[in-house]
Amino acid sequence: MTTQQGHFINGARVAGEGGRTHDIFNPTTGEVQSSVALATREEMARAVDAAQKAFPAWAAVNPQKRARVMFRFKELVEKDMEHLATLISSEHGKTLPDARGDVQRGLEVVEFACGIPHLQKGEYTEAAGPGIDVYSMRQPLGVVAGITPFNFPAMIPMWMFGVAIACGNTFINKPSEKDPSTPLRLAELMMEAGAPEGVLNVVNGDKEAVDAIIEDPRVKAISFVGSSDIAHYIYSNGAAHGKRVQAFGGAKNHMVILPDADMENVVNQLLGAAYGSAGERCMATPVAVPVGEETADTLISMLKPRVEGLRIGPSLSEDSDLGPLVTAAHRDRVANYIQMAVDEGQELVVDGRDFSLQGYENGFFMGGTLLDRAKPGHKSYDEEIFGPVLQVVRAGNFEDAVALPSQHQYGNGVAIFTRNGAAAREFAQRVNVGMVGVNVPIPVPVAYHTFGGWKRSGFGDTNQHGPEGVKFWTKVKTVTQRWPEDVSGSEFVIPTMG
Ligand code: NAD
Repeated sequence: MTTQQGHFINGARVAGEGGRTHDIFNPTTGEVQSSVALATREEMARAVDAAQKAFPAWAAVNPQKRARVMFRFKELVEKDMEHLATLISSEHGKTLPDARGDVQRGLEVVEFACGIPHLQKGEYTEAAGPGIDVYSMRQPLGVVAGITPFNFPAMIPMWMFGVAIACGNTFINKPSEKDPSTPLRLAELMMEAGAPEGVLNVVNGDKEAVDAIIEDPRVKAISFVGSSDIAHYIYSNGAAHGKRVQAFGGAKNHMVILPDADMENVVNQLLGAAYGSAGERCMATPVAVPVGEETADTLISMLKPRVEGLRIGPSLSEDSDLGPLVTAAHRDRVANYIQMAVDEGQELVVDGRDFSLQGYENGFFMGGTLLDRAKPGHKSYDEEIFGPVLQVVRAGNFEDAVALPSQHQYGNGVAIFTRNGAAAREFAQRVNVGMVGVNVPIPVPVAYHTFGGWKRSGFGDTNQHGPEGVKFWTKVKTVTQRWPEDVSGSEFVIPTMG
């Protein structure tokens, strides 16, 4: 073991003091490559102190100057792209090109946040009553926090602090203990870009650090992304402590394939969406829903050789389709779900469990798995697997295809592939899911729109980034003003504009 990652508090890297640590693996080799300190409540309180101290001055910086910091940060991240991608790839296990995408999608939110002078403007009504004007302003909340998952160590922190800091808040990121190096590096780059000390802090840790955030009255809002049970825990406990909370959870995204779809295109798109990043994406497509037996049979026969031919390799290789899973424990969990699916009666068309990569026998690799004839009521279908596993659920008709994703406990993303515009339009209107793709397999909205799932994929009512992000990270103050020429008498009736 070479290094230990600590925290980034008040503008500098600091070592952890609590003594508890967590191993960071290299998923390609299976070796422990370093460790991360797990913060105590006292260390978290110190980060909140720093953020609290930095807040008044940062909130008072005019929005154009805050935007300039974001512009400089964007340039520094672009210059550091290869270093960041390598950090991500070597701790997470996603391929280098995919790791660059992780950084790029986060940067797109930073680009959006560069428009904060315009985005944070309030509204104004002249002459709302006799001599009365009304205006509103969007003010930052204060110290806010983001608790982030392992699977996008660059994009998701940037979704959160990109908008929150541009709005004038000061921020504490509690990243995943599995791959903490990228968020720490992003904090260094924010300092270099001109963010004052204490504006962005990164505190590593586990439940103890998270509970310290939830219980600290100085933290005004929490944005969470991770699995649904933890999302619900943070949503309900955060709200009980009087905080504004948005908490995004797990997913089981379906791709509906109508009989008229271009099957060559479907198979190409589905392969990347199901197996890219070893299926460890909340917007991956782990379920295909072909409509009609003929569509299903064609899909399976075209998919089988393509799944068997997936290029699985070391994460740092430029030409792997997918790398290893994040940990051995997660790989074993995915393998258990595959066995469960078989026991539930699903047909194992391709079994990825025995895959081993020559020279990397201890890496956390797994081949692509394809299962046919999954059904609602099968635990392996009802729950999220989060691995390189695609389940096919055969739908009899269009109504079944709308019902399957609509009735699933998760409602993050869904896609429909068809040449029929009217069917696609009806599907998009009726389906009970937060983000819909029409002939687009992974419908992650662009930065200036907004990201958020429904049902057990999202708790709270305000989404990530876009105008909804600005709304989440600010509070509205409304001023009603009158400059009377003469003031006479008192009014005891509620004032109206009538
Ligand atoms: P996770 O829930 O295990 O961890 C997320 C965060 O919560 C981490 O920072 C972790 O340290 C913390 N945490 C873990 N256990 C905790 C506990 N008991 N109490 C308090 N905090 C705790 O999720 P993960 O494995 O890092 O990420 C994968 C999950 O995230 C998947 O379910 C995936 O679908 C989901 N995800 C969702 C979205 C979305 O936008 N909906 C995006 C990415 C990932």
